Amino acid sequence: MLASRIPTILPQMTEQESLETASIYSISHHGFDVRTWGKRPFRQPHHSSSSPALVGGGSNPKPGEISLAHNGVLFLDELPEFPRHVLEVLREPLENNTISISRAARQMEYPANFQLIAAMNPCPCGFLGDDQKPCVDSPDQVARYRNKISGPFIDRMDIIVEVPRIDHKQLAEETPPEQSSAYMREQVKKARERQIKRQGVANASLSTADINTYCMLSESGTAMLNQAAQALNLSMRSYHRIQKLARTIADLDNCEQISDIHLAEAIQLRRVEWS
Ligand SMILES: [Zn+2]
Repeated sequence: MLASRIPTILPQMTEQESLETASIYSISHHGFDVRTWGKRPFRQPHHSSSSPALVGGGSNPKPGEISLAHNGVLFLDELPEFPRHVLEVLREPLENNTISISRAARQMEYPANFQLIAAMNPCPCGFLGDDQKPCVDSPDQVARYRNKISGPFIDRMDIIVEVPRIDHKQLAEETPPEQSSAYMREQVKKARERQIKRQGVANASLSTADINTYCMLSESGTAMLNQAAQALNLSMRSYHRIQKLARTIADLDNCEQISDIHLAEAIQLRRVEWS
């Protein structure tokens, strides 16, 4: 449910984005429906979908789900159930925002700039760490389940959070205004405008060289991140992703400098027991 609400807090689509998305749909199996104009797509392909259906291709090549999610959200529920080769193919669009498909005689490139959201259980039975029901899996079964997701794939995730059991009593209470989609969208819009004004692109699109210019950390912050990198065995890619995430948290906080508190929050959002 959380994943499907993400499009409601993303900034409104620009004319250019609307045109791109409409063009992709118009050459896909789905065709373009004018009622979807200007609406960010939300795609939730099933893990049993074929590889061409997900990433694109086929004998008469068409864009796949990852391109239909262009400018919107791609939600992969039950992530470990997706074939590993499909997840590995996703690494290219996650880096370049495009997907190239080679078929016998032709080479095709489709846009695929999507917000990837994925969900998985902590273990095959789903109850590891739950305070009300015991997990029935062996450590070996848990390890095998988690190993279905490769390290390089996890490396490309900006935020990893555990979502505990929902308290239904809390759900029934009224939503505070600062948790409404309209309010959040406004915050997202402002943070994004800050980024464009400062560096011309969103934080997610900063190059490695630009990270050092725009995501500068204090001396104590650098020490903190170095320590975390060592303790959590972070790759250079993850290190940079945390810096960009801290920059975004500072932008949401309307701050020019990344404080150690912003950085600590970013590290926390990237911290996960993964072995
Ligand atoms: Zn379990």
